[in-house]
Amino acid sequence: MSYKLFIPGPIAVSEKTLRAMAQPMIGHRSTDFVALYQSLQPELQTLFYTQDPVYLSTSSAWGTMEGSIRNLVKRKVLNCMNGAFSDKWFDVSQRCGKQAGALKAEWGQPVDPDALRKELSTGQYDAVTLIHNETSCGCMSDIAAVMKVIREFPEVYSIVDTVSSFSAVPIKKDELGIDVLITGSQKALALPPGLSLFSVSKRALERAATVTDRGYYFDFVEFQANHEKGMTPSTPVIPLIYALKSKLEDIKAEGIQNRYDRHLRLNKKVRDWAFGKGFKLFPKEGYGSISLNCFANTLNVDLAALNKTLKSKHKLVIDGGYGKLKGKTFRISNMGDETDATIADLIKALDSALAETPKAAAS
Ligand SMILES: *Cc1c(COP(=O)(O)O)cnc(C)c1O
Repeated sequence: MSYKLFIPGPIAVSEKTLRAMAQPMIGHRSTDFVALYQSLQPELQTLFYTQDPVYLSTSSAWGTMEGSIRNLVKRKVLNCMNGAFSDKWFDVSQRCGKQAGALKAEWGQPVDPDALRKELSTGQYDAVTLIHNETSCGCMSDIAAVMKVIREFPEVYSIVDTVSSFSAVPIKKDELGIDVLITGSQKALALPPGLSLFSVSKRALERAATVTDRGYYFDFVEFQANHEKGMTPSTPVIPLIYALKSKLEDIKAEGIQNRYDRHLRLNKKVRDWAFGKGFKLFPKEGYGSISLNCFANTLNVDLAALNKTLKSKHKLVIDGGYGKLKGKTFRISNMGDETDATIADLIKALDSALAETPKAAAS
């Protein structure tokens, strides 16, 4: 059962990364761990475009997404919603017992800066969440335009999820004034799942210290106190931290600008193939993600049959649509370690599999 993932997470992990994980364990309070942890910081800060520490949480991204709500919201949070993950964040805010407002857009529409300004102008909010790259519908919002609006409201702290866009496009945390920047391991970074990386501004850390009911596991103040010793609050997933170290070496060797260029180029290759077949992008024009593509199934292809052929004959898997978009869209990742050669192979396989796939039955 070996096949390659082109779904937008988890994505394919390189042999080098897998090998990096297979190293002997070290104590998480040992000098070896401290050296490992501290060696990662400069490169992580470069990738986050920040002077603030970058914390490592042994959890999937949802851990720190929920943690951000628990640490920062005192009065009310505004959750920008334009896809499955951002919709869920609103639900999570409420489950944390917080007052939450919903700024809703259709799936595939970006976060609207003007609508955001109007809602924040009500003065109810002290925090806002948004997802830079809504993986569920392949929609990438204009983070610079959105952050420009949020900066007009200094009392509003920004929590930005970049799980599927981090290191695929530049996201300049300090310059944009992002208070909490979150990513995860299994998407844009092409590591196995289980690690979330996040960076918190000084003022957000200060606010967290005044918020009650932060809990323990995702307490920002605990992360900072342990960071100062070169450690994490509890025993971290050390194999993934070895993998992260290996990945940061890869990124440095490639050069970050080359990495951004590669994502853009490979994303366009997949797009051009699909446009050539007659498919269209699902998200609003100009807001298509560049780490994955979400296509509307305008040719009414039987996506389950297509994926079955791709898996059995070509040993690869794409995604047949998230949640309510199942069957209506399909998504193809170009995150992580993909190259011109692997995308060329993918396109060849797609061509061949599509030619033998029937139309979906009329529904
Ligand atoms: C996958 C994803 C998440 C959730 O990540 P988990 O690792 O499953 O917690 C959150 N946000 C975005 C944008 C994602 O793509």
